[in-house]
Amino acid sequence: MSESVSDAELVERFPWVQISHDSKHHFRGWLDKQLLINRCGDCGVFHHPPKPVCPDCWSENLVPTEVEGTGTVHLAMHLHQGAPAPGVDYAKGPHPVVAVDLDGTNGVRFSSTVVDLPVEEVVIGLPVELDWVERYGHPFPVFRKREG
Ligand SMILES: [Zn+2]
Repeated sequence: MSESVSDAELVERFPWVQISHDSKHHFRGWLDKQLLINRCGDCGVFHHPPKPVCPDCWSENLVPTEVEGTGTVHLAMHLHQGAPAPGVDYAKGPHPVVAVDLDGTNGVRFSSTVVDLPVEEVVIGLPVELDWVERYGHPFPVFRKREG
C-alpha cells in the first residue's frame, strides 16, 4: 500500500520530520506499521538513522530491513516540558523518551516513548517491544513493557 505513496505525498504526511532520499523507506514503513532499519547488503551491518552509505564498509547497497522491534531501554529521559504533540500531556506528568537497543541488530538504537507504563517504571534495562499508536493521522512507533 505505502509503495503507491509518492515521495511528495510522503513528505506531506510527515510535516514535522525532514524526509530525505535516504530516510524515505524508513518513513514509508511506518505507514504499513513496519519498522525498517537499513542493513548493508554487503557486510550485513545495520545502521540508523539512515545514511547514504554503510557506515562500516561504505557500500551503497543498503536494504531497508524489517526488525521485530523487541529490545532493551538503553537511555531514558523524563521530559517535563516540550513541544506540543498528540497524546502528550505534560500537565499529567513527565513524558518518557527512550533510546532502545534493538534486538537482532548490531546495537542499533531507536528513540521513541514508552506507553501504558507509569513513568517511574521507565528505566534503563527495561525490556520492551514495539507497538504502534495513531499520531497525526498515521501509525507512529512506540514501545511497551515486554513481559517475561
Ligand atoms: Zn557494509
